[in-house]
Order: sequence, then structure tokens, then C-alpha cells
Amino acid sequence: MEKIISLSKRRGFIYQGSEIYGGLAGTWDYGPLGVELKNNVKQLWWRMFVQEREDMYGVDAAILMHPEVWKASGHVDGFQDPLVECRKCKRRFRADQVEGQCPECEGAFGEVRQFNMMFKTQVGATEGEGSISYLRPETAGGIFTNFKNVVDSFHPKLPFGIAQIGKAFRNEIAPRDFIFRVREMEQMEVEYFVSPSKWEEAFDAWREAVHEFNRAAGISESSVSELEVAEGDRAHYSQRTIDFEFEFPFGRKELCGLAYRTDFDLSAHERGSGATLRIAEEEGKEPIVPHVIEPSFGVDRTVLAILTSAYTEDELGGESRVYLKFNKAIAPVKAAVFPLLKNKPELVAKAREVYSLLKKRIPQIMWDDNGNIGKRYRRQDEIGTPYCITIDFDTLGEKPDLTDTVTVRDRDTGEQKRVPIAELVSYLAV
Ligand code: ATP
Repeated sequence: MEKIISLSKRRGFIYQGSEIYGGLAGTWDYGPLGVELKNNVKQLWWRMFVQEREDMYGVDAAILMHPEVWKASGHVDGFQDPLVECRKCKRRFRADQVEGQCPECEGAFGEVRQFNMMFKTQVGATEGEGSISYLRPETAGGIFTNFKNVVDSFHPKLPFGIAQIGKAFRNEIAPRDFIFRVREMEQMEVEYFVSPSKWEEAFDAWREAVHEFNRAAGISESSVSELEVAEGDRAHYSQRTIDFEFEFPFGRKELCGLAYRTDFDLSAHERGSGATLRIAEEEGKEPIVPHVIEPSFGVDRTVLAILTSAYTEDELGGESRVYLKFNKAIAPVKAAVFPLLKNKPELVAKAREVYSLLKKRIPQIMWDDNGNIGKRYRRQDEIGTPYCITIDFDTLGEKPDLTDTVTVRDRDTGEQKRVPIAELVSYLAV
């Protein structure tokens, strides 16, 4: 874990939030490579679950919502964790994560109390009960409140789903384990609306789809396992929940989840808002409140599972190296372009030409002319760049039959191939 955190910081993937001020617990900032990686994850998800399907609709709802939303959903009353405070050092812990005495100073704990994890805020200039709102603790709220809008605009038939990617906030008592448990996170969620009698087939299909996405993102399949959540541990409205767990460096923990939530949410929002949130199962039939299957992913946990799966130490050409074995779709840099020598203007000019040509077609291309080729390879390996492209004297025509070809070196095998410049885009194709 320490190796992943330090590589992430050193190479510009993930930094501690507000670092120059000493940090803010539970917040992390994505750097230049991290934001590319994270965007690739979100794009892959959006493509698989929205754009490539006919039964899905995307939304991007406001983070601040009417406070009644969170009363209806049960979050105001029930979104809480048990909190204990050490009588001696005043540190706070989640009661279910500690035993007996304070792990910091061995002091005794006070009474367990319930701590609501929603961030409260004030909307507008007047203070008071009426102006309280919350930073959303999950993106699902903005999906349910747009159910009627989507139905009225698009007239979908059951089954269909609404998807959203966005920030969510939880005032976690004990944020920890790098980006695994944070206070500001990003979620990718689907609410899939079905006829009550058809929930099982939809649940099975989404179960497969969750694995398919994790595979496509480059999460090691052998490190993912399903935990069928027992009846007593499920939320009261859920009739079936599967947690997809991943072998993180600090143990096997929830990566994402899949829940059958019956008609709990839409019924609660009908009661809370007075709106009718119904749809007919078939034409001519009475509208009903549809039931819901909810696959819910955390972007940050997905990124951490990808980093964990990709982190590799091996030996190449007798030298040990560290590299990130990202798949091509997820890699933040798709290829790096080098002139063999930095001080030969004709090599640099040709390399610049290749770089610009590629960058127009594949934006995530990097330029590097620092140090020798071996060092550049190591640097690119460490950030998971699948290909390195070198422009050398043969490119310029020193060996006439190699004119306008370049060396393409493969990250995983170290193998080098001569590829015509004209074929590079298709060679790199993701
Ligand atoms: P946990 O039990 O680990 O607190 P949860 O069961 O409360 O998680 P859900 O409410 O099911 O989580 O949230 C859906 C997804 O959102 C989780 O599977 C996870 O990927 C992500 N997630 C939830 N809480 C956090 C957090 N504090 N930091 C990062 N990701 C989170």
C-alpha cells in the first residue's frame, strides 16, 4: 500500500487534499495523471452502462437537493454510524471498528452514540431550519427525483434505468486507507426500474454486468469475490444485496454493491413529495410504482482496485523495475514519443511531427526527451504507458527501407517493433 501511495504522489496521480496546509482528513486531490485515469474509468462506465444500451438514460443532478429528499429517503433519521469518544484524548472512532479501549492512548470510551454522516449546509442568506440542506450522501437521490422527468420526456417502457456519475459526501467518522474511505468521493450509480415479478432476471443480468465492467477496467478478476449479504445485515427494504469485495492491500473490502430495493425509494418519494412516480407495466394497465435494482460503484475505490491490480514489480533485461500494467482503455497516457537524441534538431523535428500527428487523433500522448532511452522507458513503465515510440536515424532514412518507420516498444514485454508512421494510429488503437 505504501508503495502505491508513494508512486501515486511522486508521479502525479493522487495527492493529499490541501497538502500545503497540512492536509484535510478524508480528502484527496487527483493530479494530472490521476484525473486522466479517473476520467477513463468514468468514460468506460458511462459507455458500457449508458451509451451502448437502449434502456438507459443519463442524468447529472444538482448536489444540493431539497432537504425533504433526504427525509423521505430515510437519511436524515437513519444514515448514521455508531460513534465513541475516548474520555482521555477525545479522539473519535466508529464503535464497530474498535474494541474495548482507545487504540491511540488506551483511554476508556464514553457512551456509544449515533452520528449522522450527512454534511449539513446552509442555502441562501437566511439562517434557520428552513434553509438547511445537505451535500448529497449518494447520487441515487438525484436519480429518483428525476424519475418523473425522464418518464415524461422519453416515455420509456419497463425495464429501463437512469444512471448518474457524480460527487457524494459522507462525514465518515474514521476516513482511512488512502482513497478507500474518504469524505468526498465520486459514485457511479444506476437505478434500474423493473416490474416486481421480473426483478430476479434483472438482478442476475446486473450481477454479470458488474463483473464485466470490473474486468474491462482492468481489475484483477481473481481478487474480486461476491458476498451475499445475510438477511439480518441488509437494509430492511432490501430483499437481496451482493457486495462485490476486492482484495485491497489492507484486506478484503467492499468495492461496489448490487441491491434489490423493491419499491422502497419511489414509494417514499411519492409520500414525501406528493408526486405520482408510476408507470404501467403494459399498455392499458394501471400504472404501478416500479421496483428497483441498484448497482452502485465508487469511482475512488475502482481507481484503487485498478492501481492495486496494475502495480507490478519484475525484472526486464536483468534490471528490476516497477510498472503499472493498466489496460489500454484505462491507461492515462496511451503512448510516449521520444526523439532518440535531444541535441539532433532533425530527430527532434521529426519526433515533434509524429507527436502532433498522433496527438490530434489520440489526445493522451506524452512527449519525453529527458535522459537516455532506458530511463525514459522506466519512467513510462512506472505510469503504465502501454507504448513508447522512438524516432531515430532510420526514421530519417539512414537505412532507406526503414524511412518513415519508428520503434514501438511494448511496456509488458519490452519487445520492440518497427512500425510505419502511417500505421501508428491503428497500432495504438484502444
Ligand atoms: P462501507 O460499508 O464500506 O462504508 P457502504 O456500504 O456504506 O460502504 P454504499 O452506501 O453501498 O457503501 O455506497 C456505494 C459505493 O460507494 C460503495 O460500494 C463504495 O464503492 C462507495 N463508497 C461508499 N462510501 C465511500 C467512502 N466513504 N469513500 C469512498 N467510497 C465510498
